[in-house]
Amino acid sequence: MSRVLVVGCGGVAQVAIRKCCQADQVFTELCIASRTKSKCDALAEELKGKTATKITTAHVDADNASEMADLIRSYKPDLVMNIALPYQDLAIMDACLACGVNYMDTANYEPEDTDDPEWRAIYEKRCREKGFSAYFDYSWQWAYREKFEKAGLTALLGCGFDPGVTQAYCAYAQKHEFDAIDTIDILDCNGGDHGYPFATNFNPEVNLREVSAPGSYWENGHWVEIPAMSIKREYDFDQVGRKDMYLLHHEEIESLALNIPGVKRIRFFMTFGQSYLTHMKCLENVGMLSTTPVEFEGQQIVPIKFLKALLPDPASLGPRTKGKTNIGCIFTGKKDGREKTYYIYNVCDHEESYREVKSQAISYTTGVPAMCGALMLLTGKWTAKGVHTVEEFDPDPFLDALEKYGLPRKESHSPILVD
Ligand code: NDP
Repeated sequence: MSRVLVVGCGGVAQVAIRKCCQADQVFTELCIASRTKSKCDALAEELKGKTATKITTAHVDADNASEMADLIRSYKPDLVMNIALPYQDLAIMDACLACGVNYMDTANYEPEDTDDPEWRAIYEKRCREKGFSAYFDYSWQWAYREKFEKAGLTALLGCGFDPGVTQAYCAYAQKHEFDAIDTIDILDCNGGDHGYPFATNFNPEVNLREVSAPGSYWENGHWVEIPAMSIKREYDFDQVGRKDMYLLHHEEIESLALNIPGVKRIRFFMTFGQSYLTHMKCLENVGMLSTTPVEFEGQQIVPIKFLKALLPDPASLGPRTKGKTNIGCIFTGKKDGREKTYYIYNVCDHEESYREVKSQAISYTTGVPAMCGALMLLTGKWTAKGVHTVEEFDPDPFLDALEKYGLPRKESHSPILVD
């Protein structure tokens, strides 16, 4: 029996909420709160009579920590699931601390306004110290470690697929397959086709910022940064086929470098089609990916926000998308004194996802782990206090829950390695 407050009602949150309602013996009461309350009301109405979960809705501006805290105090949840945007992470964490409630999210903090001088100074210092220049990193949320620990609360960070399941795969490999892991390659392949020349599969602003940033990887104890999209490989993905993939910076590399002892190299690759890359480059070249406001006919307009308004809503891609995703990790290392390789991954079908929860596989592969992470916290499987990432917890019950709720794993002990 538990009361859960979900913040956000977008593509990922809608999947997580539908999945929570499938586990209505644990998620007995749920409040869906978001900026646009009508979306919460429409989903609550649709789920009426289909689940024993008692659903209520609320309006909240989660950028405002005191408004968030008022909502938490009035609803009194056991857990706040932040499935809004990374911009809200810190305000929601502050509200959870103020109210003594556990917290989780699916992506690490980044600021909405990257021109803010105060933020910029901290960011530039971090770039110099750490050696990578992505806008997001864990330092903001790791700064809350002591506060959560002292309050006897848990904050679970980045519990989607990547970050999220990919880290559970690493913990699983560490626990069951290796004495020592040498290298980790995280491979994120979307073999789906939505029929549009250009669209993003999740929030366009967050997605375009991520893929237009310089890439980086962890090697021999330090970061190596490369120009965006400058390392390309081809990989033959199970049930998808041959795809081009590019090395990106990704948040879980940072926590895995800390939590997988002795790891020598960690890289992250994501597949992109040529049409996507050509559109993105062109938009970047004309300034449409900028977060700096421009004056247009007497109005301040943020180019990337305007672009978001023009692009198809990721939620609308569900009924049109065909094909599969394939996301997982390839490891090299040693077991019982012998060199070995291991690949663990999940294949998810866009059309099957849509039939089940009315969303394409990108939202599905993020929303299901969010629900399973919540399940781990609510059922006492994951209890560590403080601020933690997924690989710090026992992967076994989490991977079992993923199996049960729609994301089964596949394994290979002789994968093709990425050179
Ligand atoms: P969407 O843009 O579809 O949904 C975001 C939701 O948050 C919307 O309901 C939006 O409300 C709401 N929201 C935004 N700002 C506020 C605010 N200030 N107060 C209250 N609610 C707010 O995003 P997605 O569902 O695609 O993504 C959700 C999260 O999942 C993001 O953090 C994303 O980075 C992360 N993600 C993680 C992945 C992983 O594998 N770990 C993969 C994909 C995404 P409104 O309807 O008014 O816009």
